[in-house]
Amino acid sequence: MGNFLDCLKDDYPDINFKLGDGFYWSPLSKTVIYTDIKSKVNSEWTLLHEISHAVLDHKGYKNDLELLAMEVSAWVKAKEISTKYDIKIDENHIQNCLDTYRNWLHLRSTCPECGIRTLQIDKKTYRCHNCHTVWKVTSERFCRPYRKIENESKKSPEKLSQVTFV
Ligand SMILES: [Zn+2]
Ligand SMILES: [Zn+2]
Repeated sequence: MGNFLDCLKDDYPDINFKLGDGFYWSPLSKTVIYTDIKSKVNSEWTLLHEISHAVLDHKGYKNDLELLAMEVSAWVKAKEISTKYDIKIDENHIQNCLDTYRNWLHLRSTCPECGIRTLQIDKKTYRCHNCHTVWKVTSERFCRPYRKIENESKKSPEKLSQVTFV
C-alpha cells in the first residue's frame, strides 16, 4: 500500500494522513487515519472511501438516514476516484459495507412495541407514528463509526467537528 499512499498524499495535499488503529476520516483535523494491514486486500478501497468523505467535505449529519446517504455518496465518489488509480472496487464489497449500515438503521428505526418502521425525530430519538412509543438511540454504532474526541467539551456534545466517519 506504500506507493499508493504516496500517490494519494501527492494528489491530495490538503488532506492529512496519519497511521492509526483503523480507517476513518476526521473532519476536525482534516485527517484520514489509516492502518497498514498488509493482508487486508481491500485497504486500498477503504482508503479511497475515506478520501471520498474528505473530498465531499463530510462534517456531520442530522440523523441516521443522512449518515447512510453520506456513506452511499462516499462510495460513489470512491468508485469515481478509483479509475484514476486503475483500481477496481468490488461492487459486492460496497454493498456489504452499506448493508451493515442498512441493518443498523433498520434495527434502530423499528418500533420495539409494534414492529413498525418509523422515522427519527432527532439524532437520538425515534417515535412510532402507530403506537406513539418513543425510544432513544445512542450515537454508538456497530464498529466505532461515530467517535467522540476525548476531553470533549460537555457544553457542546453535538458539535459537528467531533464526528468522524468510517
Ligand atoms: Zn409502535
Ligand atoms: Zn464511510
